[in-house]
Amino acid sequence: MLQKVSLGTADINKYRWVEAEDIVDEVVSLGNDLKGLRLCHINSTPFGGGVAELLVSYIPLMRSLGICADWQVIRGDRRFFTITKALHNALQGASFAAIEQPKTRREYQNHNLANARELDTNYDVFIVNDPQPAALRHYLSENNAKWIWRCHVDSSQPDEAVWDFLRPYIEQHDAAIFTTEKFIPQSLNITNIATMAPAICPFSSKNMYIKKHVCREMLDNLGFDINRLIITQVSRFDRWKDPFGTMAAYRLAKEKVPGLQLAMVGSFAPDDPESWDMHAAINAEAIKDDDIFVFSNLTGVGNMEVNAFQRASDLIIQKSIREGFGLVVAEALWKETLVVAGNAGGIPLQMPGELSNYLVNSVEECADKIVYLLQNPAVARRLGKEGKETVRQNFLMTRLLRDELRLIKSLVGK
Ligand code: UDP
Repeated sequence: MLQKVSLGTADINKYRWVEAEDIVDEVVSLGNDLKGLRLCHINSTPFGGGVAELLVSYIPLMRSLGICADWQVIRGDRRFFTITKALHNALQGASFAAIEQPKTRREYQNHNLANARELDTNYDVFIVNDPQPAALRHYLSENNAKWIWRCHVDSSQPDEAVWDFLRPYIEQHDAAIFTTEKFIPQSLNITNIATMAPAICPFSSKNMYIKKHVCREMLDNLGFDINRLIITQVSRFDRWKDPFGTMAAYRLAKEKVPGLQLAMVGSFAPDDPESWDMHAAINAEAIKDDDIFVFSNLTGVGNMEVNAFQRASDLIIQKSIREGFGLVVAEALWKETLVVAGNAGGIPLQMPGELSNYLVNSVEECADKIVYLLQNPAVARRLGKEGKETVRQNFLMTRLLRDELRLIKSLVGK
């Protein structure tokens, strides 16, 4: 059988401390309508990256509503995950010529077939995340559950050949979810298409309140000079996060802000074979500057430390060039730390109004905004507070639960 990630039950009522009662009430009422429903998310990694981050908080909350929620993780070898990473990249617009080769398709299909045989199918609703397990439904066509495909990437301009390959599998689902309208590929023919943005949990170890002096002490212990300015990017070691652009912008900014330090905090995920080479390349670049530090989940920089970086850094950078959503933006804003971010994918959703002045389209623009904000900390503080309010109103887990439960309710006909 496939691995079920071991998680407990949370208390939805905690959310009453941080946001409007009516949304919590609606979520509780939807949970009552669907009490006992067996719901299972499927993805390809239990840690590293946004989907895993989401599900760790989401499953326990679903359980607190009376939904029997689980999370199963598909298995794969390096060859399979090399292909699925290429599919992920191709959905975001990269080309993947090898998809035309029968052996590439077979590899993807055989792994999905093998995983379909190992899946516990005893559920009423499956939510299949991203392209890795997208063909499971095809190999379980007799299964009576409702099947939803959830896309977490910017699929607005997918590679055509890859989209032609994946589309028939996706269209066998009862519904598809995208983060925003503009990510829905035009040719997708599926009756139910919903849009909903991801969300963060303010009570997770990644986001819970930690006193500023403790955060600063953590950074001090990691080797930073906490009397000098620190900027940080937190993201998987991935080309779309533009880590070299971030380092180049830092270098330009440092010409005007002497003593500036940069933390590149990254994570490896077992379904991302490209991350090792990317990590090595980032390290090779970082080593040229004593004030660039590279950390990862494999060297002990986990949720609490990321939390500390997001709270104690003077600014967070997320210079993505493609981005499904970018939970890291919401995470930093929730901590009132302003973000200078790539004007890409789902990031602008999180930075409306005046925050959008800090969406950037180039290294130079990124450097200019960093310098301006470091020289005008009162502006950064004010907009950080505004960012927290944006997250509170739009990107907390209760809103995501509400959106998903509404869709599920409409599909199961309760
Ligand atoms: N993350 C982490 N440690 C790291 C890098 C990233 O815990 O070193 C987490 C980050 O806090 C966020 C998630 O991984 O919760 C990344 O999600 P996001 O939506 O930003 O990007 P994705 O990886 O899904 O493309």
